[in-house]
Amino acid sequence: MTARITPLIAGNWKMNGLTAALGELQRLGELLTAGTAPRCTVAVCPPATLLARVSAQVAVSGIVTGGQDCHPAQSGAHTGDISAAMLADAGAQFVIVGHSERRTDHGETDSLVHAKALAAVAAGLTPIICVGETEAQRRGGEAAAVVRRQIAASVPDEAQGIDVVIAYEPVWAIGTGLTPSLEDIRDMHGGIRAQLVERFGAAGERIRILYGGSMKPANARDILAVENVDGGLVGGASLLANDFYAIISAV
Ligand code: PEP
Repeated sequence: MTARITPLIAGNWKMNGLTAALGELQRLGELLTAGTAPRCTVAVCPPATLLARVSAQVAVSGIVTGGQDCHPAQSGAHTGDISAAMLADAGAQFVIVGHSERRTDHGETDSLVHAKALAAVAAGLTPIICVGETEAQRRGGEAAAVVRRQIAASVPDEAQGIDVVIAYEPVWAIGTGLTPSLEDIRDMHGGIRAQLVERFGAAGERIRILYGGSMKPANARDILAVENVDGGLVGGASLLANDFYAIISAV
């Protein structure tokens, strides 16, 4: 954890969530308002179909919302896509860009992720820019170099004066129940911090670096205590109010 930064715990619902999921969210809101105030910003990133309803529902409990992706253009002939301005219009404050599932399923490149991050900022959103190595890259000893390259190409220069968030998500840890050792997380986050400071000076000290990949109530406290881990991007465990609340409470 970096002492001077307000941590962020963001839930990524992925392609999960019908209207019935709003009940689970209601339960999370109740847990948050009944307990002591969370020591972090809490965000949920539901599917776009629920974003406006979720944004309206969670406002009373202090939860904010985010989109899971945006198109780099502001508007236009892009059937099926969603612009950052539309997400903002639906109440979002954040948007995830460059998630490994988008990089894999849709062939998203670092330069596209860079363009999406800029579009997010132009619409007043904070981009959560995802990076992370595959299992083969880690086995080949390339993890640090891969992440360094992704950050260099995906994070816009403008990050110096604006709010951006980096999420380090080892691809092999997402949805698998596997996590890197705490030492590996510390080394990777330390390397990312050094890269951000090298590039952005003092502003690089203030950029939140989240860990993502099978974060659960059982491991959240240890992971969140690692230096330069400024919160978490949580997939599966964010779908259950009790689990997500336990992770929020671990901050
Ligand atoms: C994610 O999708 O960003 C993620 C971290 O998923 P999970 O927590 O399920 O591994």
